[in-house]
Amino acid sequence: MSSVAVRDDLVIGVDIGGTKVAAGLVDPSGEILCHNRNPMVCNDGAENGLASVTKAIETASAQAVSAAGKHNLIRGVGICSPGPLDPKTGVVINPPNLPCWRNFPLAAEVAHIYRVRVKVDNDANAAGLAETLWGAGRGYHNVFYVTLGTGIGTAILIGGRIYHGRTGAAAEGGHMSIDYKGPRCGCGKPGCIEILAAGPAIARRARAKLESGRSSSLLDLAGGKIERVTSEMVGQAAAAGYSAASEVLQETVELLSFWFGNIVDLLEPDVMIVGGGVASMLKPFLGEIRDRLPGCCVNQRCKEIPLVSARYGEDAGIAGGAALCFDAARNNGSTPIVGAAEVPVTR
Ligand SMILES: [Zn+2]
Repeated sequence: MSSVAVRDDLVIGVDIGGTKVAAGLVDPSGEILCHNRNPMVCNDGAENGLASVTKAIETASAQAVSAAGKHNLIRGVGICSPGPLDPKTGVVINPPNLPCWRNFPLAAEVAHIYRVRVKVDNDANAAGLAETLWGAGRGYHNVFYVTLGTGIGTAILIGGRIYHGRTGAAAEGGHMSIDYKGPRCGCGKPGCIEILAAGPAIARRARAKLESGRSSSLLDLAGGKIERVTSEMVGQAAAAGYSAASEVLQETVELLSFWFGNIVDLLEPDVMIVGGGVASMLKPFLGEIRDRLPGCCVNQRCKEIPLVSARYGEDAGIAGGAALCFDAARNNGSTPIVGAAEVPVTR
């Protein structure tokens, strides 16, 4: 007979994007035990948007069967959603890529359905918290986290807590401008680091080099079509030693170095963590960015600050959602979460 006990310490982390919802079971050490991905219906009303989320939650809960063949207990649900949102109330305000929700009380709706603790925050804050609790930021007091992908999201963790600012809108570091005459960002401002150094900017600068007549094997990777060049291809071509692609990454490193210099001058964190889809491409350059910091900030001890890769990759949102839940429990003492539901979750 198996003596494996039913677990009662798991939470479900949910990662909502513009096209998909991912969810997974996460244990108190930040291990993601299983995960799933479902489409996000974001153009067909609030109810169908919510149904996409509950489907992901219910798929995850159905996976929560213990080795003993019994259902584990789920302690809560943590959700990261595109912002703007109010992390205190869990109300999603008006994300551009989630037209289904306007002032939608996501946390309250999900808590009402499953009668568990529900926490909601934006993806960068959540992922930064996961790194602080379980990843590259463990053991550090003040953490700066950046996710580099199609956009640039950031989180500031002070004493292990997310710094939200007055209304929850703080830590929009991707929209710090480093060039007021630069290209206009999607947010309306000129020269944000996001419009200069996120994935689409890397691809755009590479395309500009090809359009100016540079011949490059980068073009071969894109099947001869300039418009098909992606940031991933730039990374591959640079790794293979092609000069146009290497120049683009070098420029990205320079832009990010000045931006990180600003971060150091403003926050002087104990560690800076880089995650997101573009992070793996830039990993070989983190040492160079750190070496450049003395020329990009006034902090004389800036090179002592570790600049490191994140623990979590694609699953950062799931880990982040779960981290919100574990953190909420931690901050309310070590007592079990009231209302923990047996799974499969029922309505
Ligand atoms: Zn911007």
